[in-house]
Amino acid sequence: MSNSPFNDAQSVYQLPEALSKPYTIPQPEYISEMPEINMLAFSSDVARQIGERENWTCEVTGKRFQDSFLLHIAHDHDAVQRGDPNYQNPEYGRCITIDTHLQEHIDRFHAGLEDDTAMLRLARLAYKNGLRTNRYYFFHKKALEEDRETIRKLLYSNDLNPFNILF
Ligand SMILES: [Zn+2]
Repeated sequence: MSNSPFNDAQSVYQLPEALSKPYTIPQPEYISEMPEINMLAFSSDVARQIGERENWTCEVTGKRFQDSFLLHIAHDHDAVQRGDPNYQNPEYGRCITIDTHLQEHIDRFHAGLEDDTAMLRLARLAYKNGLRTNRYYFFHKKALEEDRETIRKLLYSNDLNPFNILF
């Protein structure tokens, strides 16, 4: 398990200060230093607005950041394209879990609406970092592998070979 960020050697490290406090709703000054909230294509100000508007809750699954689920502030890809003057308009932003986001890009890829760039990037990011916060994985040692299994199953169920997609 040398790929795990929480292998035996590392688990003796002191818990970083950021992990020692329970997460609730991310505070504005805190968001930019939280790599687990991946803002992707919105500016961090706009992404924060959207996250607050949605109470940091996935609009599809109802999963909350407060419960350790990572969330992406993602565009409504059907409504707005990169380069559109409305691209930074928070109206076109949504708060969704990473696996929801990945599923959307797989669907768009299969429908011929986009190439495999976003799908591959999201799948690899999700597999590397997981679907929940580092803090959660620190305290739940098996959860990262469980979440990776979720991603592999998601790929399989979409007729994609995880081995080809992830490695
Ligand atoms: Zn997207």
